[in-house]
Amino acid sequence: MTVKPFQFKILRFKTDAIDPPRFQEYRLQVTEGMTVMDCLEKIRVEQDRTLMYGHACHHASCGTCACRINGAERLACIVQVWTLGGTEIRLEPLKRFRCLGDLVVDRRSFFSDIESRWSCLRPSERELAGEDFQRFENCIECGCCVSACPIVGENKRFLGPAALASLHRELQKNIGSKRNLMGLAGGDRGERHCKRVLSCSRVCPSRVFPARHIADLRRKLKTI
Ligand code: SF4
Repeated sequence: MTVKPFQFKILRFKTDAIDPPRFQEYRLQVTEGMTVMDCLEKIRVEQDRTLMYGHACHHASCGTCACRINGAERLACIVQVWTLGGTEIRLEPLKRFRCLGDLVVDRRSFFSDIESRWSCLRPSERELAGEDFQRFENCIECGCCVSACPIVGENKRFLGPAALASLHRELQKNIGSKRNLMGLAGGDRGERHCKRVLSCSRVCPSRVFPARHIADLRRKLKTI
C-alpha cells in the first residue's frame, strides 16, 4: 500500500478558547485513496480529540462536511487527498456562515431561505415517497455556493444561489404560485443582486448549476 506524509493546516476556532482563529498543523501518513474526511477522523482519533468538523453520510448526500479545501468549497467526504497536488492541505470553514467551532458552521439562516413549503419532489416521486418525504432535487444544501458567492458576502439580504435555484425549480413545477414566486425572485432580495460571477456553479458538488437557474429567472422576469 502506498503511503505519503502530508501536513494539514486547519483553521481552529473555539469560543473563548481559540479566539481569534488560528491555523494549527497536524502531520499524517496518508494512504492513496484516503479522503479529507478519512484524514480528519484519523487526526481526531490519534492526535486531537478537540477537533470539530461536520460529518454524517460520508457519500456526498448530506452536505454536512462542506468546507474550504485549499481555498475551494468542496465536500471533505469525496475529495481524495492525493489528488490535491502538493503535500500541504489547508482546511477552513465555509465563508458567509457563523463559525460554531473549527470547520463547523451554522447554516440555519440559509435553510430558512429555502422555503420549506416548496415542493422538493417531482409528482412521480411524490407518489412513490408519500407526503412526509421532501427534498430539493439534486441540492444537498451544503452551502458551498453561498460560501463561494462574493455577493452574499457583500449583501446579507441577497437570497443567494441555492435559494434562488430552489425557487426557480418550484416555479417550473408549480405554475399556480407563479405570481408569488416571481415577486420574490424580482424583489429586493432577488436576482437583481447577482453579478454573474458563476462561482456558485463552479463549486456545486451536485451539478445544480445555480447560476443557470438565476439566469432563467432573469429572463422570465423580463417577459412579465
Ligand atoms: Fe450545495 Fe449546489 Fe445546493 Fe448550493 S446548489 S447548496 S452548492 S448542492
